[in-house]
Amino acid sequence: MASPNTIVVLGAGVSGLTTAYLLSQDPTNQITVVAKHMPGDYDIEYASPWAGANYFPTGAPGSDHAEWERATWPALSELAQNQPEAGIHFQPSIVYNREKDQNSNTGKWFAELTREDPWYKDVVPDFRKIPSNELAPGIDNASYFTSVCINVAVYLPWLIGQCRRNGVVFKRGVFKHVSDAAHAHHSGKKADLVVNCTGLGSKKLGGVLDDALYPARGQVVVVRNDPGAMVSISGSDDGADEVVYMMTRAAGGGTVIGGSYQKDNWESQPDPNLAVRIMKRAVALWPNLVAEGQGIEGLDIIRHGVGLRPVREGGPRVAKDVVDGVPVVHNYGHGGFGYQASYGCAYTAVKLAKEALQERNQAKL
Ligand code: FAD
Repeated sequence: MASPNTIVVLGAGVSGLTTAYLLSQDPTNQITVVAKHMPGDYDIEYASPWAGANYFPTGAPGSDHAEWERATWPALSELAQNQPEAGIHFQPSIVYNREKDQNSNTGKWFAELTREDPWYKDVVPDFRKIPSNELAPGIDNASYFTSVCINVAVYLPWLIGQCRRNGVVFKRGVFKHVSDAAHAHHSGKKADLVVNCTGLGSKKLGGVLDDALYPARGQVVVVRNDPGAMVSISGSDDGADEVVYMMTRAAGGGTVIGGSYQKDNWESQPDPNLAVRIMKRAVALWPNLVAEGQGIEGLDIIRHGVGLRPVREGGPRVAKDVVDGVPVVHNYGHGGFGYQASYGCAYTAVKLAKEALQERNQAKL
């Protein structure tokens, strides 16, 4: 029998866990996941626990980004339909567009999402344009579809459970250099392959030092109120990097209200003034969030939060590499779409991992 492939997955956010889960479906892969932060931790260096998270496509038509989002919908939809333990449910969704936002940070971020005739209309169920005579003043177009919202506090541990069932071993570890991770495999042997899923960490990780990475800071308020729909708009009148969105997490996870898209802002603490603006905008856009006649005093706050979206100029890096003789597959830089592109990116990473392992085995002969 061929000897197993020893693989270290570096990083335990949604990218690392999804990639490890798919790799673990091949019993010839022996996998260790090593990370500084694990599900259960809340830290500014760890984006995944802060996400909503929903499926609101933002990739430009024909881009890898869009293809990864397209490839992810069937997996998330299947989980929402058939696996309640994953913590994902379907939600009616409405997106509003204002033409005047098209040059703002948030307008550019949501440009594909808010298009009248977007590529994803044939991917998500029930897509339809909302007639213009039903739109409030200032809204130029809007659409309705069914999407999903992931309770990430349930879903990330669910991914760990799927991995552990397939024999994946989890460890804590902090690395200065990506090739050092090859020595962290639970077998004690040097790993055949390292899969680098360190998100924004790849900006400072030796052997990677990717300068194309930058944070887009997202501040949120999590509340007990239930708006009854997932709602989003292209921008706000409070600044080019402030926006409104709300989504209710499955299984009692509360409603996440956002938000902001503040490029190159590393601030880890919530800004109380921004928090007030987020709540005011949410109630103004969707008054059903609170009881009739109430303002933000009608919101029942669970917590305030801040996460840094790991954006990469030019899009995520999902690619093969060799660093100091160690075969590496990178899967990082997913900005504000790490969940909605998670399966698509991981499918590509698994394909690249197979190629890298084959190349390594041939070199050994
Ligand atoms: P991370 O979650 O940051 O994980 C990185 C991992 O690498 C961690 O385990 C960390 O400890 C480890 N690591 C890093 N460096 C080292 C090192 N040197 N040594 C050891 N370990 C290391 N996406 C969606 O699809 N839908 C949404 O609705 C959505 N909403 C969002 C809302 C907010 C407010 C924010 C902030 C993000 C949102 N996102 C959303 C984006 C999504 O959260 C990210 O794209 C995704 O979490 C990135 O996951 P990751 O696994 O690549 O990185």
